[in-house]
Amino acid sequence: MSRKKERKIKRLQHVTVWPTILGMIITLIVIFVMTTFICAVAFSGLVNSTLINSIKECKKVVQTVNENWNKSSRANIESKLLNFEDVYDDVFRIYIDDKNDFISIFPDLKDSMTDEKWNNLKNNGMIFFIEPGYKLNLEVENMYVSLESDFQNSSSSDSDEQNYKWKLTPKNLFKSINILYILENENFLSWSKNELPVLPVIAIFKTDIPNVNVCFSLSYKINILQSNLVIIIVGFLLIIFVTSAVFEIFKVIRLVQEKQQINKLIATDTITGGKNKDYFIQKAKSLVKKSRKNYSIVQLKLEKYKNFCTAFGVKQGENLLEQINSTLEIFLSKKEIVAHGSGANFILLIFSQNPETVNSRIKNLMNILQERQKDRHLYFSAGVCPVKKHDEIASAIAYAELAIPRQANLQNEIGWFTTEMKENQVWERHIEDDMEKALINREFQVYLQPKYSTKQEVLSAAEALVRWTHPTLGFISPGKFIPLFEKNGFILQLDDYMLTEVCRLQSSWASQGKNLIPISVNVSRAHFAEDNLAEHICTIVDIFKVPHEYIELELTESAFFDDKETLLTTIRKLKSFGFKVSMDDFGAGYSSLNSLKELPLDIIKLDGEFFRSVDDLQRSNLIVSETITLAKKLGMKIVAEGIETREQVDFLAMQNCDLIQGFYFSKPLPVNEFEERAYSKKGK
Ligand code: C2E
Ligand code: MG
Ligand code: MG
Repeated sequence: MSRKKERKIKRLQHVTVWPTILGMIITLIVIFVMTTFICAVAFSGLVNSTLINSIKECKKVVQTVNENWNKSSRANIESKLLNFEDVYDDVFRIYIDDKNDFISIFPDLKDSMTDEKWNNLKNNGMIFFIEPGYKLNLEVENMYVSLESDFQNSSSSDSDEQNYKWKLTPKNLFKSINILYILENENFLSWSKNELPVLPVIAIFKTDIPNVNVCFSLSYKINILQSNLVIIIVGFLLIIFVTSAVFEIFKVIRLVQEKQQINKLIATDTITGGKNKDYFIQKAKSLVKKSRKNYSIVQLKLEKYKNFCTAFGVKQGENLLEQINSTLEIFLSKKEIVAHGSGANFILLIFSQNPETVNSRIKNLMNILQERQKDRHLYFSAGVCPVKKHDEIASAIAYAELAIPRQANLQNEIGWFTTEMKENQVWERHIEDDMEKALINREFQVYLQPKYSTKQEVLSAAEALVRWTHPTLGFISPGKFIPLFEKNGFILQLDDYMLTEVCRLQSSWASQGKNLIPISVNVSRAHFAEDNLAEHICTIVDIFKVPHEYIELELTESAFFDDKETLLTTIRKLKSFGFKVSMDDFGAGYSSLNSLKELPLDIIKLDGEFFRSVDDLQRSNLIVSETITLAKKLGMKIVAEGIETREQVDFLAMQNCDLIQGFYFSKPLPVNEFEERAYSKKGK
């Protein structure tokens, strides 16, 4: 996994919930503050209106006192005032202070506190007495209350006793046992109610009658309508607060769920529904790091999965992989894991005491899997790579894959990773990095191996074989790089290049007036995936205007196992274009005589192995002679490859073999040497 991908996955996995939770807390705090603020504003609005009403009533009382003081006795006035009290119930208490000593009216004020506290309040200006002849001034803006003597010009020498000034601060007011004196000044009132909206207020109003004040004890009491309004506002705000709290909590829960789902999704293999490779890498990393036991990574491959899919369909194939995955999950212990890798490979992390125990464990798993799918005849192969604490898991997975034995028809074989395999892989990388450049730099060269007629022993044809001289690695055998190019697809370009070069040679020899001889080129099985292979070859040959009978195409035997229909169509087309088609390496693998019958081939090339088997020469000679007879009967020519001895040549001549290719006559030659041999001396 690339670092970028790893980072991306980590970012997805670690979708942090904290910012959302923090956002939720902030949102709730903001909503709470706003709700409280709105409540406070609404409440103070109510208080405000109540107070203003109260003050209006106070003024009415003062007016009543002014109008009736002389007319009626104090008792009469007080009974009149009781009407006001009745109207306002507890909210309103009226006291007539006819000695200009209102403190005596509220004796419990003084009684409720110690002398020290009382003096303190007096000294700090929280209780103020308005002596006759003094005037109260309020500097509302500066929050000063001052008492000024009416007798500014009196002979009193001590001005401090006559003029008082207090700074009014909310703190002072709070200290003053929640009592605020309102002195007939609406500015002061409006300031004080903002500061202390919920406190009881004592208001003292001067009357027009000397030394007579009216004192009120007011408390804020809201009526039913107002209280309902408050309840509605508070309730409404509470609903907003609770709704948004629920919404925010829901958002966080959803995020946590989403995070869990993402993590699950990231770790899930889409085919088996089990864990995938990315999850495996992360989990294996931490398991190997934390455990004291040794671990091995195993790549378990289900053999012939493609065949299974061809026979039963991809869906069935995927179901099979799913079943294998679940079986493996059951049979692994707690701190071992399995994931589906690529294709039909499973990656396992298993405890590894020693190679023997690992091998028997894997064999055991293979047997279980086979047992569970008895009717399907499954076979497995496995590659093992031990891992240590600080090894990179992704590399170990790749190494385990390298270790999977690659021979055909494997039945529960296990391979262990070796450094040689790694070197080989590094080598392959090197080759793959350089192959394109090599083609451009013309590092690939055409060598031509002559084919001689059996009877006259005359050079009658040739095969083009590629040679690669690498600038740093030197000569590389085609046996090494061709399989690699077949795997990575580069063989398509290389074969085109070889065909082009052969055509170029043929065309140049033709223009020099030389008698052309057929030259064969190898066509890899990879080409048969193309529908228009015959046309493609034809186009290249025609560019150089080479007569088609001088180009022969060698198809390897393995191509005959692929799509037979396409192969047959291609061969027919090639033949119709006038090219010769041969089957290379006949007898080396699993060639069937059937293919001789089914495919309209021109030439059969008998594999060199026939002639190298010394064990039972008689038997192989018999097979060769019978194959030659059969091919002849089918109208095909025979070329024998890999002929190294005179005896082999004589034997083949006796059997009526047409051409012989092998070191006995010549090794593959560079073009100039071939030219010399083919066109100056002609023959050996
Ligand atoms: P092939 O097409 O069967 O080529 C014959 C191989 O046998 C050549 O190996 C040749 O050098 C070798 N040979 C010839 N006579 C003798 C002999 O008397 N004794 C022994 N022991 N070997 C002999 P080479 O050149 O190493 O090529 C190996 C294979 O690589 C070829 O087998 C062919 O399948 C493939 N190949 C070579 N060039 C190309 C190419 O341009 N395209 C494709 N697709 N495959 C190629
Ligand atoms: Mg060949
Ligand atoms: Mg061959």
